[in-house]
Amino acid sequence: MGGFEFTTANRIIFGDGCAKAVPEMASSYGRHVLVVAGRDPGRAEWLVDALQARGAEVVLLCVQGEPDLAFVAGGAGLARRRTIDAVVGIGGGSALDAAKAIAALATNPGEATEYLEVVGGGRPLTADLLPMIAVPTTAGTGSEVTRNAVLTVPDRRVKVSLRSPLMLPRVAVVDPLLTYGLPPAVTAATGLDALTQLIEPFMSVRANPVTDALCREGISRVARSLRRACEHGHEAEARTDMSLASLFGGIALANAGLGAVHGLAAPIGGMFNAPHGAVCAALLPHVMAANVRALRAGAAQSPALDRAAEAGRLLTGRTDAGADEGIAWIRKTVAQTDIPRLSAHGLAPLDIPAIVEQAQRASSMKGNPVALTPADLTAILQAAL
Ligand SMILES: [Zn+2]
Repeated sequence: MGGFEFTTANRIIFGDGCAKAVPEMASSYGRHVLVVAGRDPGRAEWLVDALQARGAEVVLLCVQGEPDLAFVAGGAGLARRRTIDAVVGIGGGSALDAAKAIAALATNPGEATEYLEVVGGGRPLTADLLPMIAVPTTAGTGSEVTRNAVLTVPDRRVKVSLRSPLMLPRVAVVDPLLTYGLPPAVTAATGLDALTQLIEPFMSVRANPVTDALCREGISRVARSLRRACEHGHEAEARTDMSLASLFGGIALANAGLGAVHGLAAPIGGMFNAPHGAVCAALLPHVMAANVRALRAGAAQSPALDRAAEAGRLLTGRTDAGADEGIAWIRKTVAQTDIPRLSAHGLAPLDIPAIVEQAQRASSMKGNPVALTPADLTAILQAAL
């Protein structure tokens, strides 16, 4: 293979209880701290209390669902007016992405749309972000170590990224203890997103030896711990495995790209109010099957076929397994964890052509190991409906 580039510029702190250090870390940047949390402010209460106990002036913003342009513009405007010294994002991928986008637009002039890819001006960010600490409370998106924030543009019904090497949070604080209270359905959906974000970079046309090592390790951890984390939310080893898998997936996708699952999930997320993890989980077995079928038909020598077979061995723990056994493992896990079908989010057969049309232009599609035709993409959506 040729050369490759791999970036991890941020500091990663991992371990049970490590989030206790966040208040001190955030206060070290200054007195004015903006905390961006998910829809339940109660989950960030301990953090706000601890910051205030250290004399910090705290502003708390809660994002309802996935962040849209208006939310991010409001947060950035507030950060500019109140001269915020540091931003802490605490929550799932939505809260972390909102925090990243706010930290970026607080220091870069103008409107978010000027910087957005696909629907915006694509202008590069030039100023360093406000110091930002990312504290995930789910194990799935890996947003704490990626260089983009996914934002919804409601009037265009699309989801697009604000993307820049400057977007990496300054510190990622990954504390598995914060995930213990996640209900089984959220554990399953976010955990299968983590698995997707390990399998897609592993089969990506941009895979490299560093991302491969992370993906192999991450897939093994999901294989042994996803179902246990769903069934026994307080089992330390299972939660640790899932938090690591999510972290590894984030680093891998930031360096090797994704594939057709995320290519399809982007327009679905823009058009419907559907959680990203659940959408990826519903699509994953069907996309894997379509990729393997297309590779066998047209590119039987592709290294991606070996990767699919290796993923099958890692998932099943059986040395005689191949791609088909891996797909069967994913199918069974999706069924056992009650992942809803896409129709549960409001998708109907009539929507399929528009999704297929947009998916072909999605940035994630470029990483897919084989070009899927509109007919292939349609069949995937029909199977997942
Ligand atoms: Zn994802």
